[in-house]
Amino acid sequence: MTSHKRLNTAQLQAMDTAHYLHPFTDHKALGARGTRIIERAEGVYLWDSEGNRILDGMAGLWCVNIGYGRSELADAAYKQMLELPYYNSFFQCANPPAVQLASAIAEVAPAHMNHVFFTGSGSESNDTILRMVRRYWDLKGKPGKKTVISRINGYHGSTVAGASLGGMQFMHEQGDLPIPGIVHIPQPYWFGEGGDMSPDEFGLWAARQLEAKIQELGVDQVAAFIAEPIQGAGGVIVPPSSYWPEIKRILAKYDILLIVDEVICGFGRTGEWFGSQYFDLKPDLMTIAKGMTSGYLPMGGVIVGQRVADTLIEHGGEFAHGYTYSGHPVAAAVGLENLRILRDEKIVEYVKQEAAPYLQEKIAQLAEHRLVGEVRGVGLLGAIELVSNKQTRARFAEKGAAGTLCRDMCVANGLVMRAVGDTMIMSPPLVIRPEEIDELVSKAWRCLDLTAEKLGV
Ligand SMILES: *Cc1c(COP(=O)(O)O)cnc(C)c1O
Repeated sequence: MTSHKRLNTAQLQAMDTAHYLHPFTDHKALGARGTRIIERAEGVYLWDSEGNRILDGMAGLWCVNIGYGRSELADAAYKQMLELPYYNSFFQCANPPAVQLASAIAEVAPAHMNHVFFTGSGSESNDTILRMVRRYWDLKGKPGKKTVISRINGYHGSTVAGASLGGMQFMHEQGDLPIPGIVHIPQPYWFGEGGDMSPDEFGLWAARQLEAKIQELGVDQVAAFIAEPIQGAGGVIVPPSSYWPEIKRILAKYDILLIVDEVICGFGRTGEWFGSQYFDLKPDLMTIAKGMTSGYLPMGGVIVGQRVADTLIEHGGEFAHGYTYSGHPVAAAVGLENLRILRDEKIVEYVKQEAAPYLQEKIAQLAEHRLVGEVRGVGLLGAIELVSNKQTRARFAEKGAAGTLCRDMCVANGLVMRAVGDTMIMSPPLVIRPEEIDELVSKAWRCLDLTAEKLGV
């Protein structure tokens, strides 16, 4: 076997095309364009196999919260691999890093959430949650309560349960999803769907779709409501301020469990440890992954609130669910070190007090660009809406073309910004410094100019 270091870009691309099926990828198109090989990274920067330096405005896939190149995590993994590379958490067993990680997560989670179920990813976590909420209502003697209400254009992963809980139509179209027992209501996306309503009117309207759906199904059928605090993959959709308080009122009125998918918002992204704290939510379950290990190793989990944990534990009997890699000792050791760094280096405080106010102030200036209809964001999440008419919020005729063009301009100019349709989104590492934010925003402005030129506006 030759080491991958010896291969040049063309060789890697040829092998890739011959053997590698990528996630969410049109392989015919990829083969024609050639794969971009990312070789190394440091801080907030990536280097591709051609030696180009690229500012990673997406923190990988919303996950590299502490930035690239932290040798402490590599050391933690190395040490743990020598000591105990693997053991399961079934059959009365546990390992020290998994136990300590559960305890450390409980410390930063909302006060009523003190238990963690470990998984390998965000998708697996939502599969776990679907089974856990159904088990909960069975134990409560209400076996009819099985349906989970979710939102159109939400993202909850890509397994059968994850994609069903999510509300991505293009995913549902493949494989007869969603599975039974999962229904969707409109999203609180004012810029795209608010029409003539004010943001707050629209936020109330969107929240009340939950109440309408509960009444339509009958409360004795409804197990839970699942949502991201801020939709990530859907386009960094920050709900109007009227939205979450009304959702909370409705959930309390009907006694429905709240599942908050914190896979993106968790571990500091909003300037709080969790998005639930930013919006003052009281979840029964939280989905975690991504920033949990800063992406250095795959790991996910479910943080379980008192009400559900007490019921599962006190009732007794086995919850017949779990993964070979639940509580993997190496991933847990890396997660623990990641948490230590977030805490000791006061990275969440840095986001809240310095990085987020600065990023939000700087990206707000992009709203003056002729191509931009709205800029919004919270913490180190940002979205830029590309429009053909700033006043009417009208899009260009070919949906997504402006976004794709802008994204390609960004990469060609040393910046990773993702496009969701015609919405440009960003989610840089939490450790991004003010001068790196300046670079991100000036590159973004330049790419908006280049995109406008190409579009002829
Ligand atoms: C990425 C993501 C997931 C899925 O996580 P995977 O680790 O890719 O399975 C679930 N929910 C949200 C909100 C996500 O952003």
